[in-house]
Amino acid sequence: MKKIVAKFGGSNLKKKEDIQKLVRVIKAYDRPMVIVVSAFYGITNHLIKAMEEVKKDETNIEKLIRFLRELKEETILENFEDKEWQDKTLNAVQSRIKELGRYLTGIHYIGDVPEFVEDVILSYGERLSSLVLTSILQSNGIDAEEALPEQMPLVTDGEFGNATVDFEVSAPNVQKRLAGNKVYIVPGFYGVSEQGKVTLLGRGGSDYSAAAIARCLEAESLDVWKDVDGFMSADPKLVRAPKRITHLSYAEAAELSYFGASILHPRTVEPLKEVGIPIHIGNIDAFDGSVAPRTIVHGTEIVTDCIIKSVTYSDDFCILKMRGPGVGLKKGVLAKVTVALDRAGINIKSVITSQIVINLLLSAKDIKRAYKIVDELELSSITEVIASEQISTIAVVGEGLLDRPGVAGRLFMSLAKKSINVQMIVSGASAVASYFMVAKDDRDAAIEAIHDEFFQ
Ligand code: ASP
Ligand code: MG
Repeated sequence: MKKIVAKFGGSNLKKKEDIQKLVRVIKAYDRPMVIVVSAFYGITNHLIKAMEEVKKDETNIEKLIRFLRELKEETILENFEDKEWQDKTLNAVQSRIKELGRYLTGIHYIGDVPEFVEDVILSYGERLSSLVLTSILQSNGIDAEEALPEQMPLVTDGEFGNATVDFEVSAPNVQKRLAGNKVYIVPGFYGVSEQGKVTLLGRGGSDYSAAAIARCLEAESLDVWKDVDGFMSADPKLVRAPKRITHLSYAEAAELSYFGASILHPRTVEPLKEVGIPIHIGNIDAFDGSVAPRTIVHGTEIVTDCIIKSVTYSDDFCILKMRGPGVGLKKGVLAKVTVALDRAGINIKSVITSQIVINLLLSAKDIKRAYKIVDELELSSITEVIASEQISTIAVVGEGLLDRPGVAGRLFMSLAKKSINVQMIVSGASAVASYFMVAKDDRDAAIEAIHDEFFQ
């Protein structure tokens, strides 16, 4: 029988009583499977902050350890009735926190955090989740076992902080380690390099971990559990009567995730698309005993009557404008700029050029640095560099977007009626997504206008 891989994220692990919801869902599956877990909500951020503080002051190690111990203790006391189970789990948590403490002491003495140590430290949020959940499942009579990525091993390309899984190497390892008829609990967010060093899979990367494991196992499905109702026609906080999307193609889900829908990490789709494993999105808060998904992401491309399935936004696209008469015609300008940005580790999200301007879309965290780098290049063909930060990118996504006339007309008319000015439009780069920029202040009104036009 094929396995199901289910992923529970930080949003499923906010409060100590949330674990009981997970237990109910896992019981409802009633079959051997693989569970991938994130750290408890906010813990990774907490570890990042603590690492910095520990460098300066050793007493912060004790503070962090106490914080984690108390947090886990609360969860353990809440979730075990049996004193023996409580003690056993507390002891196991204690020794795992001790391991973390040793790494922290190390960085305090060196006064620096080498990247290979940083990745190990940040993996402890997930390691504590998997340990506690395994124990709770066992005490509930489930045949559960923790399976750490280094025991498989789940092998990556070795890039610290943002590694990619090597499926070919990992698949036989993962299949072997997870072959039994148990419920395996795997901490997400990391794999190991060929040399066995822990490498993180990027922030929010446990969705990608789960996708990678599903791919290695040739799983029946990847079931991602959230505390919301799957993919929606727009952010429910911004529009009246948002509609749930029951089916999305892989391309649609990938674009929606890239443009800010926070249901899936943007890297989740890529490993599964190639092998046709469906992604099921469940809502743990609406769980009624059935594990039936709220949204299914799969290989079937469905064109709906209104074409657009969802409108989403991201505030993480800033524009770096490079003006100069004829930049569009001169060769080598873009090459020099992109090489310099690449050297600085800056990712370019998109490039839009004209005869007199080159626009680069960059992440908000990179824009100031990128401005400085390009300015210092002092290219003779660029007369002015401008960084625009106060913008929002809005994307409409749906199969058939490029093939059906009239969609763009309706879209921009709905914005014009509300006097919303569109600063830049990109259409055609993806067959299922068009996106455009508006002033940040216009974002909510723009989404409402588009949603009203297509869904009311
Ligand atoms: N805990 C990690 C993070 O916060 C991974 C994840 O939540 O997916 O980035
Ligand atoms: Mg997450």
